[in-house]
Formats: sequence, C-alpha cells, structure tokens
Amino acid sequence: MKYLSTRDDSLSRSFNDILYQGLSRDGGLYLPKSWPKVDLLSLKNKSYEEVACEIIFPYVNENIEKLDLQKILNETYSNFNHEKIAPLVELDNNKFLLELIYGPTYAFKDYALQFLGNLFSISLEKSPKRITVLGATSGDTGSAAIHSFKSKKDINVFILHPHNKVSPIQQKQMTTVIDKNIFNIAVDGNFDDCQKIVKELFVNDEIQESTSLTAVNSINWARLIAQVVYYFWSYLQTDKHQINFIVPSGNFGNIFSAFVAKQMGLPIGHLHIATNSNDILKSIVGTGEMKKKSVFQTYSPSMDIQVSSNFERQIFESLNRDSKRVNEVFESFSSKGFYQFDDSVLAKFQQIYKATSIDDSQTLETIKYVYEKYNYIADPHTATGLKVLLDKKDDEAWVSLVCAHPAKFGKAVNKAINKEIDIPKELSNLFDKEEKMTILPNSTIDVKNFILEKISNA
Ligand SMILES: *Cc1c(COP(=O)(O)O)cnc(C)c1O
Repeated sequence: MKYLSTRDDSLSRSFNDILYQGLSRDGGLYLPKSWPKVDLLSLKNKSYEEVACEIIFPYVNENIEKLDLQKILNETYSNFNHEKIAPLVELDNNKFLLELIYGPTYAFKDYALQFLGNLFSISLEKSPKRITVLGATSGDTGSAAIHSFKSKKDINVFILHPHNKVSPIQQKQMTTVIDKNIFNIAVDGNFDDCQKIVKELFVNDEIQESTSLTAVNSINWARLIAQVVYYFWSYLQTDKHQINFIVPSGNFGNIFSAFVAKQMGLPIGHLHIATNSNDILKSIVGTGEMKKKSVFQTYSPSMDIQVSSNFERQIFESLNRDSKRVNEVFESFSSKGFYQFDDSVLAKFQQIYKATSIDDSQTLETIKYVYEKYNYIADPHTATGLKVLLDKKDDEAWVSLVCAHPAKFGKAVNKAINKEIDIPKELSNLFDKEEKMTILPNSTIDVKNFILEKISNA
C-alpha cells in the first residue's frame, strides 16, 4: 500500500515514511491510494488482536510482516483491563454503547496510542535513530501518548496543552510522568493555538533539520487505522446486518476511522457527529459552511476544537480525491476565514453524516437522565453522543461511543448526578504525585526554542 497527500494526489509514500512524518510537507494529510476490502466472514470468532491484524495489515504490508504485526498487537492490548478490550453494551432496544475506556489512561486514545508506541519501538530497533514526538492535546491524546512513550529509548516527547483548560486529572496524568524523555508544555492559549504551533513546527526547516519530528496527533494515519478496528469489533458483537454510529467529535479523527471502516466494507448506514457548543462540524454538514469561529470552553474539553484537522481527509474524499480542489478550498479558507461548499459536495457529506450540537446544560441533563434511567454513569463527552442516541427511533441499530471514564471529568459528572462518583485508584493516586511542566506563551518561536534547547542537551 502506498500513500498520497490530500494536497498532492501524485505523491507515493511507504507506510514507514508516513509513520514518522505525520503531516505531509505540502501541508496535507496522508491517505492510502486505495481502500482495501475486508471479508467480514473471515473475522468471525477471532479475538480483538486477530481482527486488528486483519484490518491493519493491508495498510502496512510494504514494511511489516504479518506475524510481527500480530505480535505488536498482542503486546499492545495485553495491558488493557477488559477481556473484550472494547465491549459492546446494550443500553436499550437497538441502542448500544461501545466502551473504549479500558486502556492505561481511561480514554479511547489509548487504543491507538499504545499501538503507535510499540510500532515506533519496533521500527527504531530495526533502524536506530533519535526521534522527537511533538503533539498538541486537548487533554486525552497527551496523556495517552505520554503513557505510551515514557522511558522509551531514543524518543523525546513534547506535548503542548492549553494552560488551565484541561481537567485536573487530565493535567495530572500528563505532568506526573517525570521520565527524562517527557516534556509537558502548557501554552497560554486554547487547543487550536496549540495545534497551530505544532502544524507550523512541522513545516519549519530549522527544526526539521535538527531532529526527526514525529506527529502523534489524530492526523497520524497509524492512529486512525488502529481506531478502525473497534468499529468492526462492535459489529461482530451484534447480530445486526447494518449498524450506525454516533461519535462525539472534536478533531474528526475517531469518526473518520468509522468512515474508513465503511470504505473497507463494514455495513454502516449513517455516521452521526455529536459536538458540544463548538459546532463547526455541524455547520459544515448542515449547510456546507466552513467558517473560522472562536473556541468555547465546555464540560467536554477534549472536544473544544473549531478547526477539525481530519475533516480535510473527508473533503478530499468528497471532492473525488482531487488534491487540486482541496488546495483551492484551503487557500480560500485561510485567506478569507470562510468557505462555502457547493450543493453537490454538501449532498455527499449528507449521504454519510448527520450532526448535532449539544450544549453544556443538555450534557448535564443527559448524564443525570442516563444515570437515573439506566444506572449508567457517562462522562460529558460520551453524554453528547448519548443525547443523540436517546433521541433515535429504535427501528435501526445505533452504537454510541463511550470515549472516557467519567472519573476523568468528575467535577461535571458530580454536578450532574449530585453525588461523588468512585475514582479508580490509579487516578486518585495522581494527586499525591510531583508535577513537571513548563508554561510558555502562545508563540511558535518560543516553543521551537524550548524544543531545540532540550534536544541539544539530551
Ligand atoms: C479525543 C476525544 C474526543 C474527540 O475525538 P476526535 O477524534 O478528536 O474527534 C472525544 N472525547 C474524548 C474523551 C476524547 O479524548
């Protein structure tokens, strides 16, 4: 399998090239040249790790042997604390939850980042070099990446998070990992500012020349393919002929993985995007209007995003994989802060996607309702999806994704159900640990200098 870029469809890269590069130097995102098809029957009675191997192998076959891939996957999911890895729970008739909270940091990001950490280690063993992992986080990617890469040889990790805009547990999960190779940077700004700095550094020659920069944001293709697995896995746990998914969305990574699953042959009807008040995805899918908006802080901080990077991949797909047109869209968008998709493109978005924006008060009401009616405690991100799920008729099967453990967002959850919830010991212990982080202004140059200084000392 070879890879092209959303901004250059003539490109032809190997998986190994794009594994480390993350973002293409032309500013685009990588996608495979074609969609491999999976035979659903061949997945029956396989374990999660075996299903993962069948799904992921066609994307990496140029660089990784199938047996080696299976070994990496077995190792990756061995420390997850549920025997099904990603269990499907039936909440009500034709209403399901896919629980993705059994990794080391209690959010769905672990399913991809634990895999990525192991992929990097194996690949660095084969061809040794030093790499610098650079990422922006709205909270969960950062902790999942840090827990995946801590104490790994030849990998330095720099994670930017918006200062004081992640939940206390999210912050502690990142900053209490004090391994020498981990650097937490708290930026005086919001997540979009952090993401912008990271994107600028990836196309900055000075830093690219001094180190091998690697992206672990959800724009990293290897993350998306690891997420495709649990969409297949949830289908395999039902007896339905077709299913539909509701995905709480921020950077459009998780839901794009569902789109990939559909391209690979999973019988998905619709994909329903749930957002919080940061509703740019709802405007795009509702009216075709893509417009720069400012970011609100909500109870679901991992979705406090108005520039959904991965949506560029969907634009590329819906523009018939024509990178010239994608370039036109983004040139216009970055000069005017605005782009209007025409009706034919809008119709293509709407063939697959629906979108609903759920505000903070609806989020809390939903947590309360689901607790009282089903005795199920949902975190605020999950609750945006549950609100959509509860409003669905029961004539079709809908699966809504459980994105994080409620204890990670205890303040909002306690407020909603008016009682203190139990916190797993691994999370409550964090508050006794020492923290390590550096606060920097919202400036690409300052972040660049900090990184250059640290890697020259390392
Ligand atoms: C990352 C995250 C999201 C949003 O996922 P995207 O892939 O960015 O759309 C939603 N909920 C939680 C808990 C997350 O960590």
